[in-house]
Amino acid sequence: RIVYVNGDFVPEEEARISVFDRGFLMSDGIYEVTSVLGGKLVDFPGHAARLERSLNEIAMPMPMEAEALLDLHRDLVARNGIEDGLVYLQVTRGNPQDRDFAFPPEGTPQSVVLFTQSKPGLADGAAARDGISVISVPDIRWGRRDIKTVQLLAPSMAKMAAKAAGADDAWMVEDGAVTEGSSNNAYIVKDGRIVTRQLGSEILAGITRAAVLRFAREAQMTVEERAFTIEEAQEADEAFITSATSFVTPVVQVDGATVGSGQPGPVARRLREIYLEESRKAAL
Ligand code: PLP
Repeated sequence: RIVYVNGDFVPEEEARISVFDRGFLMSDGIYEVTSVLGGKLVDFPGHAARLERSLNEIAMPMPMEAEALLDLHRDLVARNGIEDGLVYLQVTRGNPQDRDFAFPPEGTPQSVVLFTQSKPGLADGAAARDGISVISVPDIRWGRRDIKTVQLLAPSMAKMAAKAAGADDAWMVEDGAVTEGSSNNAYIVKDGRIVTRQLGSEILAGITRAAVLRFAREAQMTVEERAFTIEEAQEADEAFITSATSFVTPVVQVDGATVGSGQPGPVARRLREIYLEESRKAAL
């Protein structure tokens, strides 16, 4: 695999980052994951805009213009011959110096890393066909989940807990309500209404979420942005998740309880269809 590191395209085994890099020592960095379908990037402008916002929230500038980032993404997709898969981008505060809590002086070069992951058939896996199961776990993450930092220990532990319980993923719960999935936004459908948590510092503003809610409203579906409980999910007609790499994926079991018919529901199926069709059309 060819990866990008601070200006160079190199084989992955030749890529180098300082051991003092704050991304490594302090999770002081931001990332984005953009999916690739048919060799093209899905919703790149959305991911670039969120990257800039996340960076600004932790006092970092964009390492380059969004247009230059797009060129890097496309270049890496071409170099690695990616048809379906993703591009991972990480920007950290860098730091070639010694370890220190204080930020390095302004103008210190950031670290910019991109790599690809090939995932043939990304858009037509078993999860979409059969739906997935989730368990609930306490949301133990920090208070600024709207910032897409590389601090992913809590979601990793949530995914391990899911795996240990024989489930596919975890939904995180805080103050009695679902915040979001370990790496996706969470939804239920009840009496034709699509319910998903409102934006705020408690969740990440998914790029897929924004697109899916737009398509849902355009298709005259009712959307309610509010918190919901695990019990509501268990009694819902449908449930689903969204993220860049899962698109819209039905959830058919929550904490062992079957949701609706136990099969992917019509709302999730329709939204997935619309999302994939529109995303392919607009991909860059
Ligand atoms: N919520 C969390 C915690 C995530 O990590 C992600 C994506 O990785 C999402 C939501 C979904 O965001 P997006 O649709 O932009 O991939």
